[in-house]
Amino acid sequence: MKLNVLDLMKKGPVLGDGGYLIELERRGYVESGSRREKVGTGRGSGQFTPEVAIENPEALRELHREFLRAGSQVLQALTFFGTREKLTRSGYGAQTEAINAAAVKLAREVAGDRALVAGSVSRTQLIEREGMESLGRARDHIAEQIRLLKDTGVDFLILETFFHLAEMKAALECAVASGLPTVATMSFRPLISSCSDGHTPAQCAEVMSDLGAVAVGANCEQGPEVMLRLLREMRDASKVPIAAQPCAFRTTPECQSFTRLPQFPDELETIQLSRTEFVQFGKRARAEGVGYIGGCCGCNPAYIRAIADGLAESA
Ligand SMILES: [Zn+2]
Repeated sequence: MKLNVLDLMKKGPVLGDGGYLIELERRGYVESGSRREKVGTGRGSGQFTPEVAIENPEALRELHREFLRAGSQVLQALTFFGTREKLTRSGYGAQTEAINAAAVKLAREVAGDRALVAGSVSRTQLIEREGMESLGRARDHIAEQIRLLKDTGVDFLILETFFHLAEMKAALECAVASGLPTVATMSFRPLISSCSDGHTPAQCAEVMSDLGAVAVGANCEQGPEVMLRLLREMRDASKVPIAAQPCAFRTTPECQSFTRLPQFPDELETIQLSRTEFVQFGKRARAEGVGYIGGCCGCNPAYIRAIADGLAESA
């Protein structure tokens, strides 16, 4: 029988996969929106949505294959930014069911019995655009997507790239109610000292682990070295293992989030971190209490291979 993510974590850090949207944008299959609007504000319309799952499935299938070859034990279905709310703004709202179902099916086809399939659920962007009054609607959209992912048979959920703990709490309550094991990771910007509604990494970790996440941590925005600082704070406040999916971009002390730097999204190549930092990250993961390790934006399969090398050295 295939092990679930909890059983796998008991055997040591589980190696996830990397960032799909930035890599597929580089390959020409995802729209960044940068030619028509200021990307990264959350106020735009169609950037970085996952319609590639129905429009160019072969491109997505290939990237899944590459992550699997790199050593990923988990393939994330490309359902990031796949709520009806976000897809409607990019013109794909009517395909919400089709995009989520196709993304899970593709990941499952490639994973076979060699990897688990996770459904990726992200923030809606409603809170950034309309404030906390929209929290109820954000919850409804996230609940709908979680239902779709459960219906298509994902093995577990990864809630990621939430800026506000309030939206994460709403999402995590829906996820836990679905009965699926759930990994929960916040993203911190512009600094790692607190999330967008003012909670420290330690407070976020405590809340997420109390709500029933099987691993809690951070994803995106910082590279491994910077992220490790906030992960240690989370580790000390959490009852469950730490989950980490750093990005592969260099940030600055004044701005510790790559999506707030002027290089996002069209000059990311100039702040790309090398794979070496990810080998080091893999080496340290076990000792740092990391139970789930992968990469986010800027991490293509070479970076996952680098983490795998680091993990193997520390074993
Ligand atoms: Zn990312």
